Amino acid sequence: MEKINDIVCIEGFGADSNCYLIGNILVDTGTGNNKEYLPQKVQEAGLAINDIDMIVNTHCHFDHVGGNYLFPNSKVAIHEKDAKILQSDDSPLNAGFLFGKSVKRRDVNVNLKDGDKIANFEVIHTPGHTPGGISLWDGEVLISGDTVFANGGFGRLDIGGNSQEMKNSLEKLSKLDVQYLLPGHGPWTKNGKRHIELAKQMFSGY
Ligand SMILES: [Zn+2]
Ligand SMILES: [Zn+2]
Repeated sequence: MEKINDIVCIEGFGADSNCYLIGNILVDTGTGNNKEYLPQKVQEAGLAINDIDMIVNTHCHFDHVGGNYLFPNSKVAIHEKDAKILQSDDSPLNAGFLFGKSVKRRDVNVNLKDGDKIANFEVIHTPGHTPGGISLWDGEVLISGDTVFANGGFGRLDIGGNSQEMKNSLEKLSKLDVQYLLPGHGPWTKNGKRHIELAKQMFSGY
């Protein structure tokens, strides 16, 4: 597993999102379809399952929250707008229907909002892919969920998304001096700022 500035990067397995470890905080948990993969990666990183104090979900989609149940003693933090979707009974907005599954663990302990702190990261509200999508920013590394991907990609808008919000979020992120972009899917990359600029350009022609 690659480490970028002490962040352990765990590549998504199958349909899982990428997951990231910031100390004892786990950012996203994949689908949870494979019960062994993510817990094993966490253990390879030197942590026991019960060492994970908190899960931070970048947004409420199944491929990012489905594995929350694998860490039953961890608190769950998610933006307040996506917390409502996660907690409501089988909302189509959690995208579980795409996977033919429902989310097993739906409780939320911490409702996040823009400007909150997660370890040394700032929570940036980046709606557009979902109403309560967040990115995490420490001045160098951006964990971007499904808002922006490497090589100019951006998140789909058809499951709770909003085009104007996505435009604004890409604009907001393009102002940051991002060195490392750690997205929810696909490769993580250096020169993050250039990749985000490209996404902004691609979106304006979308
Ligand atoms: Zn998503
Ligand atoms: Zn995703």
